[in-house]
Parts: sequence; C-alpha cells; structure tokens
Amino acid sequence: MPKDTDYLQWIKSRFKGDNPKSSIDIVVAFLLSEAKQHTFPIKLSAVAKVIGIDPRPIYLDQMYDGSLVTKEGKIRIALQLNYRNNYRFSQRLRFTYAHELIHCLSYDLTNIPNTRIAPPPEKLEEEYLCNYGAAKLILPKKILTNIFGDEGNNYFGSSYSEKFKNIAAKADCSISTVVIDCITSGLISAIPNTIYILSLTSGGYQNTSKVKPRCVISILFDSNGNKKNFLAPNKGLEHIKLKDDKLKDWSLLRFHKDIAKEYMEVKNEFLLDMLDINSSCVSGVHVKLNDKGYVWSELRFHN
Ligand SMILES: [Zn+2]
Repeated sequence: MPKDTDYLQWIKSRFKGDNPKSSIDIVVAFLLSEAKQHTFPIKLSAVAKVIGIDPRPIYLDQMYDGSLVTKEGKIRIALQLNYRNNYRFSQRLRFTYAHELIHCLSYDLTNIPNTRIAPPPEKLEEEYLCNYGAAKLILPKKILTNIFGDEGNNYFGSSYSEKFKNIAAKADCSISTVVIDCITSGLISAIPNTIYILSLTSGGYQNTSKVKPRCVISILFDSNGNKKNFLAPNKGLEHIKLKDDKLKDWSLLRFHKDIAKEYMEVKNEFLLDMLDINSSCVSGVHVKLNDKGYVWSELRFHN
C-alpha cells in the first residue's frame, strides 16, 4: 500500500484512527455525542457549535454549492445563494453544510484569525473525506446499525426499498445518500448471486450530459458473496447487456422507460438492454422509490 500523504497522516494523528476513514468516524462520533445528537434528524447547527464555528450559514452567489469563508477573522460556512429557500435543494444544501463542517476540522478555531493547521491535501483526498464525514454526520453509524440490526442478516423476501425511503425521510437526506452509505458501510447483507442497483433518470454528473437512465450505485455479490462494483456511477444503463431472451423481463431500462412518463420526459430512444450474467433465470424486484425518479433493484441470479 502506498504511504499516506501528509494530509492523511495529519488526519490520522489528530483524530487517532488506524486509517483516515476510521479517524473521521472517531471525530464524528465525538462531535455527535458532545452535541447530544442521537436521533434523526441530526441537528447540524448543534454540531457546528461543538466544532466552534458560528452555525449560521452565509449565502453567496458562488461557483460551488458550499465553501468556507473568513468573516472578521472567523471561519463561516457559505452556501449557494441560488438554492436558498428552494425545497428541491434543501437536502443537497444540508449535505453540503455537513461537508463544510468536516473541512472546518482542518482549522484552529481557537485563535483569531482562524488558521488552517492541516497540510494541503493532494488532489481530491480532502473532498472525498469530507463527503464521507458528511454522510456519517447525517447518517450516524449507531442509528443505522440499530435499524438494520432489527432483521439481522435475513434479507430475502423483504425489500430494502421501504427502509431506504423511511431512513431518508427521517434523516432528512436524499435516498442516494442513504443507499450509498448503507452499501459502503456493509449494512446490506451479502446474499450471493445478487445485484443491487440504485438508478435514476438524470443528466449524469452535475447534470452535464444527456438525460437518460443511469446507475447511481450498484453492487454485485458474486457466488462467494464477495462485493464487486457492477456498473460505474453515472453510466447509462444501456451498458448492461443481456444474453438471454428470458432475462428481458428484468430489463431495468425497460422499467425506467415504462415509468418515465410519470415523472420525466425522456427524449432519447432506449436501446435493447441485457444483463451480461451467465445464468438462466432471475428473480427480484424493480421498485420506484419516489417521484424524483429513483429506482431500486434487487436481482437474484439462479443457475
Ligand atoms: Zn469541499
């Protein structure tokens, strides 16, 4: 393994974790406990107070969703003015606010002016870690483990989709944040020969490409139960190739096409899609999660 960069070394030694992510886990758990936040939805302003910054965001017409600005020597969180008071962006701004809270941990806030004490990051490593920390602040591991502990590891026959919807509503965050966090934290049981896909009809990364059904996150559990990425995020679902005519019933593209008119006009023609999986039958579900176009799929392959 390559040696951690100066920034990641600093994160580890400051928050005493074995690796950068576990260091963020430790500091996030500390912040939530000090802020007395043990239930959904997490009050991020209480976390901001514990960190030592003024919790009131400043709204700016800026290039990014969020940034840190200095006002009278003190760090403040600046959010995108154009998203203010727009319910469609409220969860996005909430995630951004949490992301900026993690950036604040790189500063000494006890002296005026507040100064950065962390070494400069390399590439996007600080951004990834802030996204990781933001998800952990909004979806604390303790609360999620309680929810998923209820049913143990026995998944089959009961879909996760309702659970995702409920968690997102209670935690006040997007369904994709919930699904990505549950999958990456290993809270979804590893049923062998199963694919979980969250997909959405969208314009890709930051809405810069063609509007079409795309993968948000997908995980394939192989016959040994090992986790593998199945499709890259933001990839169009036409990249899924089917081998067998019988599998067409499980075409996710067709499912998107059938429900598309309910929530979004999809302009392009859909290609014939298929799953490039060597098996003879599939069982499972495609479920429409909400009116924003999210679809949750749980597909099981039988040889
Ligand atoms: Zn950032």
